[in-house]
Amino acid sequence: MAVVNPNPAQPSKPEAIAPVLKTVSSSEGVCPVCHQPVSPEAYFCPNCGHPLKSKPPEIFERLIVYAVSILLPPFGLGYAWKYLKAGDKASRAIGIMAIVLTTISIIGSIFAWQFWIQPLITNYANQQNQQLNQQLNQFGL
Ligand SMILES: [Zn+2]
Repeated sequence: MAVVNPNPAQPSKPEAIAPVLKTVSSSEGVCPVCHQPVSPEAYFCPNCGHPLKSKPPEIFERLIVYAVSILLPPFGLGYAWKYLKAGDKASRAIGIMAIVLTTISIIGSIFAWQFWIQPLITNYANQQNQQLNQQLNQFGL
């Protein structure tokens, strides 16, 4: 009797994509110092402690990226590009977050302009017009 695939619609495994995202490293799989096998996910060799790849960004670094994304939207996209290229999951998550925050910030700026800054300018202009017209009327012009 034939074995039926219980999940025929399932696409190729995520492992098939993962190697593309990994940073290229000659030390992959084996520690360059002690030559013990290491997991590709490891940041440090579990045997000798040798650093195998750069650590994921610290919280402080994330906060800076998020703050820049919100306050200076164009620069947030620069960070997003850098972190999306980094490869590891944590960095990619930060890159995506930077894009989301930049988008929110730009949309927020447009709303702020329409509903807050522009009405202020309009009010100011109207006040100035009124004052000038009153002064002109006082001089009978
Ligand atoms: Zn080692």
